[in-house]
Amino acid sequence: MKAAVFEAAHRLTIQEKPMPVLEAGDVLVQVEGCGVCTSDLMALRGEVTDYSPPVVMGHELAGLVVESRHSRLKVGTKVTLDPMVSCGRCEYCRNDLDKYCPELYGIGHDIDGCYAEYVRVPRRLIENGGVFDVPGDTDSDDLILLEPLGCCLNAMRETHFNESVAILGAGPIGLMFMQLIKERGLQTIVLEPLEHRRQMAELLGADAVRDTGAGEEISDLTDGGVDTVILATNQPEAIPLAYQLARKGAWINFFGLYASGQGIELDIEHLHYTGYKLLASWAFSRWSLGEARKYVIEKRLQLKPLITHRFPIEQTETAFENTATYQGIKNVIVPGLTHIGQVEGER
Ligand SMILES: [Zn+2]
Ligand SMILES: [Zn+2]
Repeated sequence: MKAAVFEAAHRLTIQEKPMPVLEAGDVLVQVEGCGVCTSDLMALRGEVTDYSPPVVMGHELAGLVVESRHSRLKVGTKVTLDPMVSCGRCEYCRNDLDKYCPELYGIGHDIDGCYAEYVRVPRRLIENGGVFDVPGDTDSDDLILLEPLGCCLNAMRETHFNESVAILGAGPIGLMFMQLIKERGLQTIVLEPLEHRRQMAELLGADAVRDTGAGEEISDLTDGGVDTVILATNQPEAIPLAYQLARKGAWINFFGLYASGQGIELDIEHLHYTGYKLLASWAFSRWSLGEARKYVIEKRLQLKPLITHRFPIEQTETAFENTATYQGIKNVIVPGLTHIGQVEGER
């Protein structure tokens, strides 16, 4: 089968690999599509260093069970995954903080993932409740976004909200945050430097959408700043902008994964008197993935418009370049696709 293998920083190769070998209790999933995640791009660039190459990347799956050695999963079931395989027993796992489990390993991170025609799902993940089945008619595009949506829902639970929220960045994550915040009836303000992404934020219903130079205008518009800022970006310029937009006592969530070495300047006296609540939410919990599953099945958000480009496995590198240069919104790898598809205009 074809697969995109992360071999080392700056080296991604397309390989013909043998079919995954199942052990007792495992299942084999045929990949319908897999989202390109910025964390994969950063690993390829050498900006994050916790992957275990050589490994087939890809963890935002929509797929079908095609072989099952586990009684809980039938052949033909449509699924996505919690890509983090944890022990299920330690202090962290017992408190739905599996991401800190000392035995953790990741699908598409440490063991072979979903930029491939097939992926092996280990028994342990199935038994920890990490395989999410959905009705057969669930849209695969929506399903691909279940895991990133789970990350947003986890951050929503960890963050305090009052009336107004500024979201920095209108990529797939920022646009999901925008819709979740809108759903709560809060004032949603999106700041984004790229016009095509601003247009999408408007289309999906943000209350105000501005270029990133509009910090002062937003301060006026919100009478001194917003109650909550979410950095759905990893651009260094967004950090001073976040402070500019935050009113006293505001919550600032550093959600975006910054390159290793990026710091924030912090004068503790200033922090004290501004009362800023700085936090960082990352990844998901089992709870938030379960919630995301409901969102996907009930079609509570507009997820499909976020997927703007599709690539066959052979073009994975182009999909990464597309992600790196902020083309469209979300890029997806679709095994067996015969041509590069820009989705706009197709539907
Ligand atoms: Zn991801
Ligand atoms: Zn554990």
